[in-house]
Amino acid sequence: MNLLPDKTVERLSQYRRSLNNQLSKGKTHIFSHEIANLLHITPVQVRRDIMLIGYSGTLRKGYNIQELVDLIGKIIDTDEGQKIAVVGMGNLGKAFIHYLDERGTKLRIVAAFDINPEKIDKTYADVYCFHLDRLAEIVHKEGITIGIITTPPEAARDMKFLLRDAGVKGILNFTPKPLSEEEGIYLEEYDMITSLEKVAYFVKPR
Ligand code: NAD
Repeated sequence: MNLLPDKTVERLSQYRRSLNNQLSKGKTHIFSHEIANLLHITPVQVRRDIMLIGYSGTLRKGYNIQELVDLIGKIIDTDEGQKIAVVGMGNLGKAFIHYLDERGTKLRIVAAFDINPEKIDKTYADVYCFHLDRLAEIVHKEGITIGIITTPPEAARDMKFLLRDAGVKGILNFTPKPLSEEEGIYLEEYDMITSLEKVAYFVKPR
């Protein structure tokens, strides 16, 4: 299968969380317009995404939720799950470790890195924090494929190269410093200010 568009992958992740929630309520089938309502998008969008992954429901019952969840899992996850390193164990790094620990995804944070002696050689929600000098060694040993950057912005660029050189394949950058794309690495930026300003734009008095 060709790589899916970024936005479709984002929505598949959201569909799966919503569908799991429906499963836990005992629901077995769902129509596209119901998924659309849950996520505040159009039924056409839902049908298009689900068609893209080669699944179809029936007119009478809609989609089988368990089958759809399993298929999304096959597309997004790997069998053994992927391992993550967090670089920068400050407020955000710690919050991330605790948050992901409770999500039950196949993604696992297995190591943290920092340069502050007060953070190093400590364990946060079962995740050990190493000195940054050990990043390449631990990434290699653990088979870490994803890095999350939660350092101060000034350090972000160096962290990107460090992670790339260590063999990491994807980076989620939480600092406000935008990073340039690098060959062989998938880069995703998350900036809280951008999201907040988007909200502010849509609610500003007109
Ligand atoms: P923080 O100061 O609490 O934590 C930063 C951590 O990085 C510290 O533990 C520090 O010792 C460590 N560090 C510094 N230089 C390092 C280096 N070279 N290598 C490894 N570790 C290093 O900061 P925070 O509040 O957790 O925020 C972290 C980053 O996330 C900042 O860049 C901040 O601007 C950004 N932030 C982003 C959002 C967002 O929505 N994206 C929200 C809040 C904060």
